[in-house]
Amino acid sequence: MITTIVFDLDDTLYDEIEYCKSGFASVADFLAPLEIRRRLLTGRADLSKAPEAKRIFDCLWEQFTAGLPPRLPPRLLVEDKSGGAAGNRTKTFNAALDELDVSYDEKLIAELINVYRNHIPKITLPQDSRDVLSQLSDKYTLALLTDGFLPAQKLKVQALGIGKYFKCIVYTEELGRDYWKPSPAGFEKLLQTLNVKPETIACIADNEEKDFIAPNRLGFLTIQIIRSARIHTSTSRQTGAAAQYVIQKISELPALLEKLGTE
Ligand SMILES: [Mg+2]
Repeated sequence: MITTIVFDLDDTLYDEIEYCKSGFASVADFLAPLEIRRRLLTGRADLSKAPEAKRIFDCLWEQFTAGLPPRLPPRLLVEDKSGGAAGNRTKTFNAALDELDVSYDEKLIAELINVYRNHIPKITLPQDSRDVLSQLSDKYTLALLTDGFLPAQKLKVQALGIGKYFKCIVYTEELGRDYWKPSPAGFEKLLQTLNVKPETIACIADNEEKDFIAPNRLGFLTIQIIRSARIHTSTSRQTGAAAQYVIQKISELPALLEKLGTE
């Protein structure tokens, strides 16, 4: 019988693209005045052509989404956590700065990445997620397990105001970079902390490439949510990577759990 539900965060409880948008807006707000100061200090004649925040944001967004509607492949992601992230992230910023005629070096790029990862996100929890978390918390123990850079993940949890729903939150980054999914370490820590058996846990997440490998192996029930605005759209050919059940909306989750509980 399922007694515990462990949720993934990004593109499971909210649309991660909203976070990306918020991050690029923060970077634009940071860069616009900085660029004016830099042009002043270096005596550049084209001071008046320093890009405004709105233009910087538009350019970053364009690079981020370039030619890829309506769904963005992971290779252009700023926060691509599936590997090879640094190059892709750098590329988005580099390409936008080239376009804006803003001179840069590695130090500036690193600074922009830092602004992105440490910004206070303007994101809200969708109503259907709020309803489901509230409904399920009456009947189940809820937990959250999330990959990604600290403090970015912690700031997302704060901004969404979801901490209160979870008995346990595992930030895999706190265990070490080697323990991001698909490592089982985060899930093992969860089992230990909650002191529950794997077969009593349902894991709900979005990314087939990394989210279900360890939970499947450990014997959790696995459910994939496919949100329409999701960022990661690729599927995995690896055996044991697919979830056992698939839903399209989080509002389908309570009924599915109910059904599985009575089968
Ligand atoms: Mg996710």
